[in-house]
Amino acid sequence: MTFENLNLIPSLLSNVRDAGYSVPTPIQAATIPLVLQGSDVLGCAQTGTGKTASFALPILQRLLQQPSRRPEARVTRALILSPTRELAMQTWENFQQYGKKLPLRSCVIFGGVGQGAQAEALHQGADIVIACPGRLLDLMGQGLVRLDWVEIFVLDEADRMLDMGFIHDVRRVVRALPQQRQTLLFSATMPPDVEKLALDLLTDPENVKVDPVTSTVEAIDQCLYYVDKGNKKHLLAKLLRSEDLENALVFSRTRYGVDRIVRDLKKAGIDAAGIHGDKSQNARQTALKRFKSGECRVLVATDIAARGIDVVGLSHVINYDMPMEPEAYIHRIGRTGRAGRDGKAISFCCIDEVKQLNQVEKLIGRRLREEKSEWPMEITTPTPPKVREPRPAKVGVSGQAVPPRKKAPQQPPRSVPASPSRPASARPSSGRQHRRGPSAYGHPVQRTRR
Ligand code: AMP
Repeated sequence: MTFENLNLIPSLLSNVRDAGYSVPTPIQAATIPLVLQGSDVLGCAQTGTGKTASFALPILQRLLQQPSRRPEARVTRALILSPTRELAMQTWENFQQYGKKLPLRSCVIFGGVGQGAQAEALHQGADIVIACPGRLLDLMGQGLVRLDWVEIFVLDEADRMLDMGFIHDVRRVVRALPQQRQTLLFSATMPPDVEKLALDLLTDPENVKVDPVTSTVEAIDQCLYYVDKGNKKHLLAKLLRSEDLENALVFSRTRYGVDRIVRDLKKAGIDAAGIHGDKSQNARQTALKRFKSGECRVLVATDIAARGIDVVGLSHVINYDMPMEPEAYIHRIGRTGRAGRDGKAISFCCIDEVKQLNQVEKLIGRRLREEKSEWPMEITTPTPPKVREPRPAKVGVSGQAVPPRKKAPQQPPRSVPASPSRPASARPSSGRQHRRGPSAYGHPVQRTRR
C-alpha cells in the first residue's frame, strides 16, 4: 500500500513525501478512503499510530475539492476539538505541514494565553480551527467564532476529553454545529461513556480499529526497577547519563513531583525542563520547544500536560512514579516507539506502588522485565497512611491558651423516620458510625466526644 493508492491529490502527496512518510500507517490506510468518501468514522487507535494524518490529509483534500457552503466569505469549515493545549498545537503544526502551499488557512485556539492573536486569526478567516473546548466556548460567547458552516467535525482523544471532565463543554460545542456534517471521533479506548457519545454524535459510522489499547506498541522495550522512593532520583540521574539515552520524557504523578525532579536533576548537573498544569502556557511551550529542538534532553511532565506530545525520535519514557490509572501507562509509553521506531520504557516501582504495578501488568497481559540497579528496594513495608495531627491549641497574646469559641446552641439532629424502603444500614441508629460520619440524609450529624 502506498499513499498514491489512497487517491490523494498530487499536492498532498508531495507534502507527505516532504514529511518523510513513504507508506501509510494502518490507521491511515483504513481511515483516509472513508473520510474522502464522506463517511462518519469511529476510530479506535493507539497513540503514535499516525492518527493525525489519517484525518488531516483527507480533510484538506475535501475542503479543496468541495465547494464551501458560504463561498462569499472565508468561514470555518472544519473544527478539530483537542483535550489539551499541547495536542491542539501539535495538530495545528501537522495541518500546516500536510497543507503546505495549499490555499487553506488554519488556526489554533486554547486557553492560558491572551486571546488577541487567536481572535485576530479568526477575524482574518480560518478554514480549519483546532481548539480546546474551554477557550473555544469563550470566543463563541464573545461572537468571535461561528460554527454554522462547519462541514467536518473531529473529536480527538475522546476518552481523555471525558476523563478531563469536558463532556458538557463538548456537548455545548456540538449544539452550535450544523446537523448536516461529517463527524470523526477518535479515542484510544472505548469505555461505555465514549461509546454513548459516539452514538449521539455519529451517523451510521464506519468503525476503524487499530491495535487495541491493551497491546502496547511491540517496538517498545519495557522494563522495571524496584527502587525505594528516596533513591529514585539517584537511579534517574544514572540512567539519564547512560550513552544509549538520546532524550527522555519523565513522568511524575504530581505537579509538585515534576518541580522536585527538575530541581534534583539540576543539582546533579543534568539540564531538565518541566511541564505541568500550574505552569503558564508560555512556560509550557518554551519547555516543550527546548525539548523538541534537542536543546534539553529531559522533559519532566505530569500525565495531563504530556498528553499528545509527539517528539520525533523520543528514545526513552521513564515512569518515575507508576500511574494511578493503568491505562495511563499505555498512553505514557506510547510517546516513544512511534510510527514503527524503537523506544524504551523504564518504570520505577517502590513498595507503595506495587498495587499500581500489578494493575498495569494485568492490563498489558505480561510481567515487565526486571532490571537490577545499585539501589535495590530495601524498604518492604508500605508507608502507613498519614494520620492528621490534632490542631495545636491557640495561644493568646498573654501566652495563655484561648478557649474554643462557643458555638450557637445546635438543634437536635432531625430524626429521620425509618422507612421500609430504605436499607436498614442507611437508617440512623445510636451506633458509633452514625455519630461520627456524615448523615446518610445530608443533615448535620451531631458529633459527640468519646
Ligand atoms: P500521530 O499518531 O499522528 O501523533 O503520529 C505519530 C508520529 O508518526 C508523528 O511523528 C508523525 O509525524 C509520524 N507519522 C505519521 N504518519 C507516518 C507515516 N505514514 N510514516 C512515518 N511516520 C509517520
